[in-house]
Amino acid sequence: MAKEKKVVRKKIKATGEMNRIMAEYFYELDNASKTGERKIAWCTSVGPAEILRSLGFLVHFPENHGAMLGATRMATDMIPEANALGYSPDICSYLTADVGAYVKGISPLTRAYKGIDGVPKPDVLVYNTNQCRDVQDWFAWYAKELNVPIMGVETHRGVGDVTGAHVESVASQMEALVPPLEEISGNTFDLEELKRVVALSKQCSDLWKQVLDTASNVPSPLTFYDGTIHMGPAVVLRGTQQAVDYYHLLLAEMNERIAQGEGAVEDESYRLYWEGMPIWGRLSAHSKLFSSLNTCVLASTYCNSWIFSAFDPDDPFRSMAKAYTELFIVRSDPAKERYVKTMLDFFKVDGVIYHDAKTCPNNSNCRYGMPQRIEEMTTLPFLTINGDLNDLRMISDEQTKTNIEAFVEQLEERKN
Ligand code: SF4
Repeated sequence: MAKEKKVVRKKIKATGEMNRIMAEYFYELDNASKTGERKIAWCTSVGPAEILRSLGFLVHFPENHGAMLGATRMATDMIPEANALGYSPDICSYLTADVGAYVKGISPLTRAYKGIDGVPKPDVLVYNTNQCRDVQDWFAWYAKELNVPIMGVETHRGVGDVTGAHVESVASQMEALVPPLEEISGNTFDLEELKRVVALSKQCSDLWKQVLDTASNVPSPLTFYDGTIHMGPAVVLRGTQQAVDYYHLLLAEMNERIAQGEGAVEDESYRLYWEGMPIWGRLSAHSKLFSSLNTCVLASTYCNSWIFSAFDPDDPFRSMAKAYTELFIVRSDPAKERYVKTMLDFFKVDGVIYHDAKTCPNNSNCRYGMPQRIEEMTTLPFLTINGDLNDLRMISDEQTKTNIEAFVEQLEERKN
């Protein structure tokens, strides 16, 4: 029987600096929204943020706001507001929570940052459908509500190998965004500036990868739960020097932990991989539960999704098109399975947790036999958790706890 123990959660020292740069980011957006001194673009989380930054826009990411609504456990109460507008409880609960919060005039930013009244007002909405259609529908609702221009990139889905044809098609759509964005921003596009921003994004991505890769050490210096918090700058500040500086700091701390043999979870006995969306409102509870079972959930496809290895400042449009199409969520099942197998080997895990997120079929990879096929390939056991990224009504805490405890017991039996 796996024994529960008193949990000591190791604090990451760099957290203070991360909070500082995130606060700076939100206050800068808020100031621009109030004064009109800078133009603001809203962008999907894996959208072409580099083009926007190069044209002088400050960039707000509604998915980040959706995740904040989830992490603060505000989301569940917001969702019915969007349902009343015709947006089903079965579709993306980032969308429904975010739209619902807008309708109610509520934002977690107001609670976290004194003086901020809500999300910054956009001058343009830019999406990329590489992850799902929901982001386009989400932005389309705001375009109508706020009477703001909307534009974006329609990406291929279910991609096996990323070919030259995929890259050309996405790159040309990205280039076509430039003239209307120039007009909205009031700035002339400068290729050298785009190259500079892409170079910073590439550095951010490489450092974030190095941070996440430290989890391959035994014991792992970080958990998936740490990753979901510390990915903030990679999502909202990629393309800036602040994000690069931050990941240098975080990487140094992880390397220090490795040098001292210090694991994120005390007495790490079992190592797990997380596949699917985080359950934002249960990060802390699940982190404590796994730690109490001497189990480290240490890596995930989710946190890896902000690694864009293909970025090349010398070929910015084509390399962005490649990086944003190579993403896991864009790919076919065989390509995803190859990727997950590589990750399971690299991180030396004992098993896999699949999160079947009720409102995100796009990033729930356990509905078409993938866990069973990966188990056949690797012999690693898996557990599927039913839940949701934001809608806490979709989660049975008791059932989840019982299933996780039974899974860890199964791991213990396999080791003995
Ligand atoms: S991938 Fe899932 S969680 Fe993300 S925006 Fe699309 S539906 Fe929502």
